Amino acid sequence: RGRWSLNGMTALVTGGTRGIGHAIVEELCGLGSIVHTCSRNESELNDRLQEWKLKGFQVTGSVCDASSSTDREKLIETVSSLFNSKLNILVNNVGTNIRKPTVEYSSQEFSTLIATNLESTYHLCQLAHPLLKVSGMGSIVFISSVAGVVAISSGTVYAASKGAINQITKNLACEWAKDNIRSNCVAPWYIKTSLVEKLLDDKEFVERVVTRTPLRRVGEPKEVSALVAFLCLPASSYITGQIISVDGGMTVNGFY
Ligand code: NDP
Repeated sequence: RGRWSLNGMTALVTGGTRGIGHAIVEELCGLGSIVHTCSRNESELNDRLQEWKLKGFQVTGSVCDASSSTDREKLIETVSSLFNSKLNILVNNVGTNIRKPTVEYSSQEFSTLIATNLESTYHLCQLAHPLLKVSGMGSIVFISSVAGVVAISSGTVYAASKGAINQITKNLACEWAKDNIRSNCVAPWYIKTSLVEKLLDDKEFVERVVTRTPLRRVGEPKEVSALVAFLCLPASSYITGQIISVDGGMTVNGFY
């Protein structure tokens, strides 16, 4: 196996039917990995699986609500039986947002965001740990957000969930290094996906975003998946515990 190949490796990518997760599935498959993915919408999942089959990608899928503990357990059982109790790559991509001023969140909204973005991610790491360890070469990649790095108007609960993921990235890098499992995190700024479609339809909003972004545009899912793939490759074998922004320079833009 070469340094720039994922040939023979196995991966679980959560939320692979649209957006960033979809691009990650295709990027990992293109480098030779076998991938399992999940989403909540069965017909959309089946459509994607059909398309990937036609492209010659080896992808399987489960209907799974990542915010449900029992669904997560079933998902990892499926992955374990598909991949002989071994997993090289876990990409924790599922995440959602409810945008509003801090004082307006209900406790239900708080719980939904924390369950979907943070608890699901943490529990999937716990469940996948034995499989990653047995593989002999494990890599976890978290998808957080620049909202977990700097203050942006994305909503405080989302920001807190992403900030927590950034710290989990560092803790697991240290705790699981002995198991030869690396842990890294990708933090995107605005990327054209269904999650932010409505926001990006607002020309004034996009103008405000672009004004803050040195590269003067929003990003594409493929610009995120390329880094995720790199962090899974043997070529990145000495990189662990890092949070890397894919943001057109936004987070380093002081006053220029
Ligand atoms: P999308 O909403 O476009 O896609 C999300 C994918 O995850 C879909 O396949 C969706 O399928 C699936 N999904 C959502 N919720 C669940 C769930 N509870 N259980 C299982 N599957 C689920 O999102 P993006 O691609 O934009 O976002 C991906 C990640 O990137 C998120 O963590 C997000 O916070 C992060 N991010 C995105 C940015 C952006 O600008 N787009 C910026 C910074 C970070 P289904 O709905 O059918 O379940």
